[in-house]
Amino acid sequence: MTRFLGYGRQTIDDIDIQAVVDVLKSDFLTQGPAVTAFEKSIADLTGAKYVVAVANGTAALHIACLAAGLKDGDVGVTQPVTFCASANAITYCGARADLVDIDPETMTMSVDGLTAYLADHPECKVVIPVSYGGLSSSNAALRKAAGDRIIIEDASHSVGAIGEDGNMVGTGYADMYTFSFHPVKPITTGEGGAVATDDPDLYKALQLLRSHGIEREPGLLQNTEDAGKPWYHEQQVLGFNYRLCDIQAALGTAQMSRLPAFIARRREIAIFYDREFAGMNHVRLVQARPDQRDRSGHHLYTIRIDYDAVGKPREQVMKELAERQVGSQVHYIPVHRMPYHAPRFEGRSFPESDAYYAETLTLPCFPTLTDDEAAQVVAAVRGVLGS
Ligand SMILES: *Cc1c(COP(=O)(O)O)cnc(C)c1O
Repeated sequence: MTRFLGYGRQTIDDIDIQAVVDVLKSDFLTQGPAVTAFEKSIADLTGAKYVVAVANGTAALHIACLAAGLKDGDVGVTQPVTFCASANAITYCGARADLVDIDPETMTMSVDGLTAYLADHPECKVVIPVSYGGLSSSNAALRKAAGDRIIIEDASHSVGAIGEDGNMVGTGYADMYTFSFHPVKPITTGEGGAVATDDPDLYKALQLLRSHGIEREPGLLQNTEDAGKPWYHEQQVLGFNYRLCDIQAALGTAQMSRLPAFIARRREIAIFYDREFAGMNHVRLVQARPDQRDRSGHHLYTIRIDYDAVGKPREQVMKELAERQVGSQVHYIPVHRMPYHAPRFEGRSFPESDAYYAETLTLPCFPTLTDDEAAQVVAAVRGVLGS
């Protein structure tokens, strides 16, 4: 094998490079037309009414939580198997980040778990399920369990994927959907993120929070005496500078035009892997039901390995794969095991998340992975596991 294969990798071609160069030669590097065009490209693909592009996926989660009204002393809930940002966003608002275990069939928040949790914690205000690996959690049962609480889907893995309700991720059962455009994610802007919503009030709040809380539209100003004067604007709430710049946004629009093709290629690789790994000893597939493969964005390709039965600890398996040029990773160390969050979860257990953490391994899956490389990944796993 000639190149080392990471678990994920961006796809950049001449269209992307030209789009960035065009912005660099234009009048606006930030706060120009490229951001609006990027937001429109996301709205067009997902069907969401409104999209607010921001500096990264964590900022998207933060302003979504604030727009949901989360504040000091409140409680928000997410799932243990996620990147820590899903919980941190709740904490940034001064609220307590709590957890509900996953459903191992879907890897998103367990509906039964949420129902039981909310019966004990009716004060919980915001629910953040994660579309792990690109498989959206969108389902009517979760909506019903959440009642009239705000649902924010952490859709960092799943822009371009389809929800269980048949909608593109970005519109449907949740009040807001947050995306990340980090280079390993489905499309990239270097760093970047966005929030999608169908709700005009949430949209207005998100726009304010993205840019210092400053309002410029004359009709929406509180100080009517100065409204309409050419310099006049108002800071109405405490917002942030979470803006995406035009250079990043132009890259994003170029990437969005190829997102369906990126996902189609990821899907081919995932289905090839499913077939190859299905019969291997000590290996279990994840999110591999045909109906799941049909709608997922295939952001992460993971398998569950019984390392005890194999007779090698995970670190040894990862090392031997790396010697064969195959990178691997673990997604994720559960939130309740992070030293920062752990003290709040002493004495509580999340058995499905812990079992998944003990077994999971993420293997290379990205649009430019070739058929030969995918076959080499399979051969390397077979060799290392002795299956
Ligand atoms: C990547 C990711 C984030 C954070 O996104 P950034 O753009 O890196 O800030 C949040 N949640 C999940 C599940 C992610 O994978």
